[in-house]
Amino acid sequence: MISAQHRQPIVAVDGPAGAGKSTVARKMAERLGLLYLDTGAMYRGLAYKALSHGIDLRDESSLEELLYNTTIDLYREREGQTEVLLDGQNVTSHLRTPEVNASVSVVAGFARVREEMVRRLRRLAEHGGVVMDGRDIGTYVLPGADVKFFLTASLGARARRRQKDLDALGYHVDLDTLAQEIEHRDRLDSTRAIAPLAKAPDAVLIDTTNLEVDRVVDEMIAAYHRAYDR
Ligand code: C5P
Repeated sequence: MISAQHRQPIVAVDGPAGAGKSTVARKMAERLGLLYLDTGAMYRGLAYKALSHGIDLRDESSLEELLYNTTIDLYREREGQTEVLLDGQNVTSHLRTPEVNASVSVVAGFARVREEMVRRLRRLAEHGGVVMDGRDIGTYVLPGADVKFFLTASLGARARRRQKDLDALGYHVDLDTLAQEIEHRDRLDSTRAIAPLAKAPDAVLIDTTNLEVDRVVDEMIAAYHRAYDR
């Protein structure tokens, strides 16, 4: 383990679906010259592969075995997206579909799946220099992060953001359906036994409902400097 004094900074960004984590975490990483790591994309990659292989999503052992036989690499952004290579194949455009949205929290709920994912994520952050976003980064994956954020927003705002993202991908889903899907996913993520979605006691809480992206990023960078330059 490299001590905090001898490694590059680590920033953890957690929060529920649609709170704006990936948008602001990416911008923050860009402005600070750090690497942005979208951990949800790893769970989405596994869910996508399980769906493609017709694996029973309730079968933890099969999912664990599948994960052990899967490489998931996150690449730098192109046009605002993390490029995801699954076993060497670029699957980025398949990871935000309604099917994956509906399955990912089930796959992510299994202890043995999470153990392996957490091992991989900690390895990626070993030398620091990262902004990592997810659900359990500040509480479980990287509890020693230099600065932690917990982003929230109203359910309506989160559903509208998701609708915009899906529209851009060519999927038209109505707002009520999206709000229900987000609530369902939040419930699964917040109530699972292992590393549930929660705010770390030392995380800075930001409600992004009425804030512009750049305001949120400015606020986060100010908090980062207060914490890291101490
Ligand atoms: O952030 P995103 O919406 O892409 O995450 C998709 C899902 O992956 C979450 O709803 C959650 O079930 C799971 N996830 C997780 N832990 C993380 C990141 C994502 O359980 N650190």
